[in-house]
Amino acid sequence: MSEPSNPSRRRWLRRTIGVGLLGLTATAFAIDFDWLFDAPAPQIEVSERARRLHRSAIVIDLHADALLWRRDLRRRNRHGHVDFPRLREGGVDAQAITLASLWPIGLNAIRNRWPPRTWTRPWERVRYQMERLAHMLEGRDDVALVRTAAELRANAARGVISLFHGIEGAHALPDGDLSKLDWLAEHGVLFVAPVHLEDNAYGHHGGGDPERGLTELGRRLIDRMNELGLLVDTAHAGSRTLQEAVRRSAFPPINSHTGVKAVRDHWRNISDDDIRAIAARDGVIGIMFGGMALDHPRIDEILAHMQHVIDLVGDRYVALGSDWDGWIRPAVDPAGLPQLTEAMVRRGWSEARIRRILGENVLRVWESRDRLLAARRSGHPPAPRPEK
Ligand SMILES: [Zn+2]
Repeated sequence: MSEPSNPSRRRWLRRTIGVGLLGLTATAFAIDFDWLFDAPAPQIEVSERARRLHRSAIVIDLHADALLWRRDLRRRNRHGHVDFPRLREGGVDAQAITLASLWPIGLNAIRNRWPPRTWTRPWERVRYQMERLAHMLEGRDDVALVRTAAELRANAARGVISLFHGIEGAHALPDGDLSKLDWLAEHGVLFVAPVHLEDNAYGHHGGGDPERGLTELGRRLIDRMNELGLLVDTAHAGSRTLQEAVRRSAFPPINSHTGVKAVRDHWRNISDDDIRAIAARDGVIGIMFGGMALDHPRIDEILAHMQHVIDLVGDRYVALGSDWDGWIRPAVDPAGLPQLTEAMVRRGWSEARIRRILGENVLRVWESRDRLLAARRSGHPPAPRPEK
């Protein structure tokens, strides 16, 4: 027999603990922890030679999840990485604004106050991020969404920053609805990665079974992307998924953000066979600036990964794939990017090589796609590639 006061005391205790836990959870979600990912203070002095080279080069970065955060990209933020002022400060001519939509990192319901329609639906998270960017671009003529490499080059020549989208994981397409790809292609999306951090209906990710490739739906995804001119992004894909996607792609493939296994043996990084496969299709590999790909976020480590790709297949296949704002601490943020060029100069790399890595390689891939699309439209498509 318990005292009459005990049940009410237990209820009170349960309620207090419940409210406390709820409060703690809400606080954890509500706190801005952007500062955890801030780039370190500048590490190396940038010479006048490197500064001139950096400024005259076309600089393109293939991956930034800048829209996952609550920050307004129109103003310079104290934390995080990508915003328009810092892109300008660091001489970035074009930035991929990638769209991650996996639970939980893509949700941001409480901390970032995303609308309820995004809470359970990845497709709505993609749409919402694109809408947010479109809103931030309203009435501006110094930053613009581009669809072709020619637009990018024209913007770079007149000092306008170009943005373009990539989709991080085809799970974003609701119920495998490939018709959504048409809409994406029309709205500034250049590339689609079949998988993100987990296996999905399209393929298998790098942290899983490397022997599992594209699914039947994954093959249909790439066939439709080939029709629309969407590039395949093999970032996050397991080795077999990567190899099959690269072979099936009608355009040079990209890997928007990765490191290489030969420098750091980690599931997030790609093997020499994967590098050769992308190079064999004249694609390009964006090297990350931090996160799981690197041991430490250091400029010399970024260069070590680039050097390996250069030694293996050549400097034609290396690009910048920072993964800024992707829950990583990068060696440099956009404003600090000239340090990377300085480090390349100090390594004795030629100006031609540095320009290729900073942006020309990405432009080559993009222009190759644009030419193929134009040829198709004119009714003179080049001979179809043999199916493997
Ligand atoms: Zn990623």
